[in-house]
Amino acid sequence: MAIPFNKPFVVGKELFYISQAVLEGNLAGDGRFTKLCHRWMEERFGARKVLLSTSCTAALEMCAILADIGPGDEVIMPSYTFVSTANAFVLRGASIKFVDIRKDTLNIDETLIEAAITDRTKAIVPVHYAGVGCEMDTIMEIAERHNLLVIEDAAQGVNATYKGRYLGTIGHLGTYSFHETKNFISGEGGALVINDDRFLERAEIIREKGTNRSQFFRGEVDKYTWVDVGSSYLPSEMIAAFLYAQLEEAEAITSKRLSIVGYYSQKFGPLQEQGLARLPFCSGDVCHNAHMFYLLLSTARQRDELLAYLKNQGVGAVFHYVPLHTSPMGREMGYEEGDLPLTEDLSSRILRLPCYFDLTREEQDRVVGHVFGFLGQGKGRLSDAALFSASQEVS
Ligand SMILES: *Cc1c(COP(=O)(O)O)cnc(C)c1O
Repeated sequence: MAIPFNKPFVVGKELFYISQAVLEGNLAGDGRFTKLCHRWMEERFGARKVLLSTSCTAALEMCAILADIGPGDEVIMPSYTFVSTANAFVLRGASIKFVDIRKDTLNIDETLIEAAITDRTKAIVPVHYAGVGCEMDTIMEIAERHNLLVIEDAAQGVNATYKGRYLGTIGHLGTYSFHETKNFISGEGGALVINDDRFLERAEIIREKGTNRSQFFRGEVDKYTWVDVGSSYLPSEMIAAFLYAQLEEAEAITSKRLSIVGYYSQKFGPLQEQGLARLPFCSGDVCHNAHMFYLLLSTARQRDELLAYLKNQGVGAVFHYVPLHTSPMGREMGYEEGDLPLTEDLSSRILRLPCYFDLTREEQDRVVGHVFGFLGQGKGRLSDAALFSASQEVS
């Protein structure tokens, strides 16, 4: 039996809650289950305000509107991220300033941010890769000094922390994803986290097609009308009902994922000791959420060969982002190969292994066995493998 890269899962009450939503006769957005999800996340994560959205992409688009991004403005972010991080701002006419990543966490290198700031810069968008927090203290300090907004792309970082604070709640705004490949899922889905009071009122309006509908239903205004730009960014109650069942089980989901990632780490530990591959890295300041497990191989060729080998064995390993600056869109923006050396190097050597809630130990053993099988054939033993660049950083 093939082992897929990802498998959507249910933990218990998802279908029950959906049927409740249906029977209660409220299927549009902002009903009982949406409010339950909002309150759950606000209390659990200590967020000022959380608003469900149709996706993390939609939440990022709301952030770009809230930040008043317009033509000529510049937004700083890593190139090693999903397209939506950039698209949300490009849609408003911004130009994107891509910054290289750290070789330990693969997160934006905070020491390179300041040099990318100009008088057109409006915002910094740190992406918490693999649910491992960026160096938020430094990033917030830089933003404050230059009067910039910080918008956290915490799509992968739901329920993970940096120095005791939940990812997504540290910047002025944050975004979560509940896509079926993430830790807590609703098929498609996301949330906007608002940590700065000045965005509260406008966020509700943008999310409700540019109307003051929410204020009207609270009795704060006597007319429901068009007051700003906006779109339809709120999910249906069926999505919220599914999600709420998952949030209620957040502890169980996270501890299951941690044990899956812990098992891989234990099995692949020897590879790291021998300098044959590097495992995900986390500093003591962060508590990750076991969003993913990856191996950093010695060379791009070795990664590609292992990927093909695993595919042949029925294991759904994948690589991750083609750096945005080397994509056709990135080239159109004037970037070229060589601009961000660490991003290009690391993205060419990374291999993500299957990591999902229902993955069994037996399946993990098979994945591990195939990786060792490949390396044992000598294909992994490049002469200078033990010396490849980042291996000392994480021991
Ligand atoms: C998954 C992901 C997104 C997009 O999330 P959707 O909910 O699918 O829109 C954005 N940024 C990052 C870093 C992601 O991993």
